Amino acid sequence: MDLKAVFFDRDGVVNKDFGYVYKQEDFIFLEGIFEVLEFFKKRGYLLILVTNQSGIGMGYYTIEDFKELSQYMQKEIKKRLRFNFDGIYFCPHTAQEECLCRKPNPGMIQKAIKDFKINVSESILIGDRIRDIEAAHHAGIKYKILLQNAVYQEDIKTLTKENIEYCFQAKYLKEIVNIISNEVR
Ligand SMILES: [Zn+2]
Repeated sequence: MDLKAVFFDRDGVVNKDFGYVYKQEDFIFLEGIFEVLEFFKKRGYLLILVTNQSGIGMGYYTIEDFKELSQYMQKEIKKRLRFNFDGIYFCPHTAQEECLCRKPNPGMIQKAIKDFKINVSESILIGDRIRDIEAAHHAGIKYKILLQNAVYQEDIKTLTKENIEYCFQAKYLKEIVNIISNEVR
């Protein structure tokens, strides 16, 4: 049987987005993220991180910096919840490189779908940018949640008609629990 998954964007969803976060001291978990992770874990979802990390391609930090920070993140989540992300996928390229992994392209999500044999029709993506929602749409992920935090506040209305189906807006992470309880059977 195929597994269902929740795909999480990182900066602005898991942690505060200060732009090109790569140091431990700048990695601040957002209010409500642990509750959301636990909610989905209890319901049998895989937890997958998919993150654009163009700071690597720009030379602001290295792949090793990113991996070290990921280890820190995983360790901190595990301390609180006794589990953590099942998979972490990142794109190190700049927008100019026109790769297939950088969101809004679906490459990272598609790779995870293959690696874990994920059923897209039962899966969810949570992001704070329209490009996250578009990447999910391109990969066939059914449910999309646009988190409208203080940094970007991108509007769901800028999505095309076909993308907007099963796309929900949440102002706070904790709202996601209600949305999914009501919308996903
Ligand atoms: Zn890439």
